[in-house]
Amino acid sequence: MILAMFVPLFEEVVLTKSLHCKMLEVARKSYPLEGCGVLFGHIENNKAVIRDVVETENSAENPTVRFYIDPELFYAILISAEESGLEFLGIFHSHPAQPNPSPWDLEYMKLHQNVWIIIQSLNREQEKMNMKAFQWYNENLFDIKLKITY
Ligand SMILES: [Zn+2]
Repeated sequence: MILAMFVPLFEEVVLTKSLHCKMLEVARKSYPLEGCGVLFGHIENNKAVIRDVVETENSAENPTVRFYIDPELFYAILISAEESGLEFLGIFHSHPAQPNPSPWDLEYMKLHQNVWIIIQSLNREQEKMNMKAFQWYNENLFDIKLKITY
């Protein structure tokens, strides 16, 4: 099962400009609610190389301050990615506030110790949006460097 794979502390999250833009667009159009989705790709030399970004519906009861991905939908997306030969790498979501993990996010990061990308959607112009990557690992929260390739 792909979720049970060994996940290192990532040195870097690598993604293309077009996947970066795709996530910013989810954040922009979801505002003032939180937008969310799933990250797929490969682990190469302790780097998370993102190859696909799948937007999902935010089914949280209060989507202005939380996000929730329906488990059945999540599972269906996982199966489809696995069939394409991609591994589950993590989750992205937007905050109509600063791009730092909320206390609720932190609880889930402890359960899912993979890549968490958070996008600040407060300013709706994509070029002014701030995107950060985090990982909870060995009882600590780490900022992971984001590298955007062209
Ligand atoms: Zn959050």
